Amino acid sequence: MTTLFISDLHLQADRPEIGDQLIDFLKTEAIAADALFILGDLFESWIGDDDPNEYHESIQSALGSVVKTGTPVFFMHGNRDFMIGTKFSHQTGVQLLPDPFVLDMYGKDVLLSHGDAYCTDDVEYQAVRTMTRNPEWQAMMLQKSVAERRAFVAQARIDSEAHGQSISEEISDVNVAAIEEAMEKHNVRLMVHGHTHRPKVHAQTVNGRTAKRIVLGDWHEHGSVLRWNQRGPRLHTLAR
Ligand code: MN
Repeated sequence: MTTLFISDLHLQADRPEIGDQLIDFLKTEAIAADALFILGDLFESWIGDDDPNEYHESIQSALGSVVKTGTPVFFMHGNRDFMIGTKFSHQTGVQLLPDPFVLDMYGKDVLLSHGDAYCTDDVEYQAVRTMTRNPEWQAMMLQKSVAERRAFVAQARIDSEAHGQSISEEISDVNVAAIEEAMEKHNVRLMVHGHTHRPKVHAQTVNGRTAKRIVLGDWHEHGSVLRWNQRGPRLHTLAR
């Protein structure tokens, strides 16, 4: 049996082919898997569980169907959908995980994360991250109307794109020292994260021992899935 890991689908009504590919993946591969882990940025934006959004509801329904077949589905927040809350979890049966989270895979501990917390070279981004992950800030946002929140997200998107263009590829990637420090702290030699949209298996050094870091790909042009069974982890592209 296989455990599946995906991230960075950035689902939105304007790109229905991505959601269609996910739904196909859920109906075929996910229902036959041991478990499905979604490591953030499932949605392009999420302004609160109270937002009436038909497209999001269709995806929630598809996730709920997987849970009903007996495959547990786990979700960790990304930087686009960190406002996903307990109502979403109750409606779908998807279980929310903290970031980071240590998972036992066949007797080996694996550190799971969205990954943006380790982009420590991007100081401006980390300041925004600290603000928006504060429960008080989130409670304040949820007091605003859906229209006000939509306007806030639209402006945040413009600011984020401008910021992204102003920094180098190196700055926007994870900081390897921060990654190795986290792996050391959690006493793991395996890590899986997304966020950077740079799918790759990296060799790291943790406490002088070799370690492996698997970066999941985004679903912009095609799907990306990490399939992990008793033989080990394999990163795959899903043709669209
Ligand atoms: Mn992200």
